[in-house]
Amino acid sequence: MNSNSLIELDRAHLIHPVASYRGHEKLGVRVLASAKGATVTDASGRQLVDGFAGLWCVNAGFGHETIVEAAAKQMRELPYATAYFGLGSEPAIRLASELAERAPGDLNHVYFTLGGSDAIDSTIRFIRYYWIARREPQRDQFISVEQGYHGSSTAGAGLTALPAFHTGFGIPFDWQHKISSHYAYRNPVGDDPQAIIAASLTALRRKVEEIGPERVAAFYAEPIQGSGGVLVPPRGWMKAMRELCRELGILFVADEVITGFGRTGPLFASTEDEIVPDFITTAKGLTSGYVPMGAVFMADHIYQTIADGAGASAIGHGYTYSAHPVSAAVGLEVLKLYENGLLENGVKAGARLMGGLESLRDHPLVGDVRGRGMLAAIELVIDKANKTPLPAAAEPARRIFDRAWENGLVIRAFANGVLGYAPPLCCSETEIEAIIERTRQTLDETLEDPDVR
Ligand code: PMP
Repeated sequence: MNSNSLIELDRAHLIHPVASYRGHEKLGVRVLASAKGATVTDASGRQLVDGFAGLWCVNAGFGHETIVEAAAKQMRELPYATAYFGLGSEPAIRLASELAERAPGDLNHVYFTLGGSDAIDSTIRFIRYYWIARREPQRDQFISVEQGYHGSSTAGAGLTALPAFHTGFGIPFDWQHKISSHYAYRNPVGDDPQAIIAASLTALRRKVEEIGPERVAAFYAEPIQGSGGVLVPPRGWMKAMRELCRELGILFVADEVITGFGRTGPLFASTEDEIVPDFITTAKGLTSGYVPMGAVFMADHIYQTIADGAGASAIGHGYTYSAHPVSAAVGLEVLKLYENGLLENGVKAGARLMGGLESLRDHPLVGDVRGRGMLAAIELVIDKANKTPLPAAAEPARRIFDRAWENGLVIRAFANGVLGYAPPLCCSETEIEAIIERTRQTLDETLEDPDVR
């Protein structure tokens, strides 16, 4: 089918996630046809370096035959097995056990979902169940962080703190609260790491006081805020927040949907942050995007409380595709790849990526450079001294995304003029260089664009 007919069919029938439907109708879809390594090819045969690993998920890179084989073998043998009724499949059991072995501390229990949003939703349900089992049913208030992203389910989107996910949907709910972000580049307390940590600790204490300390169920944070614009907290931020939650007697959820599986270096960013949360949520890199899957890691004490609370009754939380055998078979293969050189390559490539982006710091449009491992961003401004953002009316995200695309680079362009990078961990030195050079070219062209200044 040629591209024009695909564009027409797309316009008529396919609803795109997080899109202006009218804007998309006008612009039409860009069809991707194939991919290998870190290179994607569009329907017209143009090749681009994928600086965003799809949607921060194809950590292993495209075109791994061993992943394809693992999925095909599982499809032939047993394409589906429910995990209801006490049934199961070998890949799901093995993957849960392999992951539990590698997860921090006593996060020994794994609940498989279809992606990140239902992983978050699952934690909300488990946390309510836990507090009811602990005979503290009044603990039904949840706190998350401004600029945070915790998925697009009805409950999770209320923990998400991005306006587009709330406006018109009647959320957040009144049991969902926020504290301000650690966003160092635009923090009212300045960019001193200790001041930022102190401000967040105070904000959480105050919020808990305001809600009522006996009513708070849990606090959610990402080790690095991804969709909020790749906001990296100071070293020690996660640890300090985790310890405060313990002191306040509330549960701590580390949302590692982006940071898990090598994105920042190790399999779990929580390991680097030296914390053992009560829950970790993951997805994306778990299967490297080849098939959908997410996983909730649950600490022993939570699992035991929920199990004892239910006794012989069923805990009514499940999906048809919980613990899907094909996704689990893919997960096992992807885990092997991570541990056979991919994580290591990611660390090397991440250092090159950060070095390259740092070299753009003196570009007139670059206000901030931040990141950790293969997760990074640059924040564009039109006036460095005043940190003036690019004018929103000029739709900088669309323009910069298009320009980068023309230059053979896929990046994430956020509405506020932040460019996000999350390339596959398999990137070679040449591919990282291409990402940097094509970014530089895109910035130079943007600088010449009278509408953006
Ligand atoms: N949590 C975080 C931190 C995420 O970044 C995302 C997705 N970008 C989600 C949850 C939701 O995951 P999914 O899109 O797979 O539902």
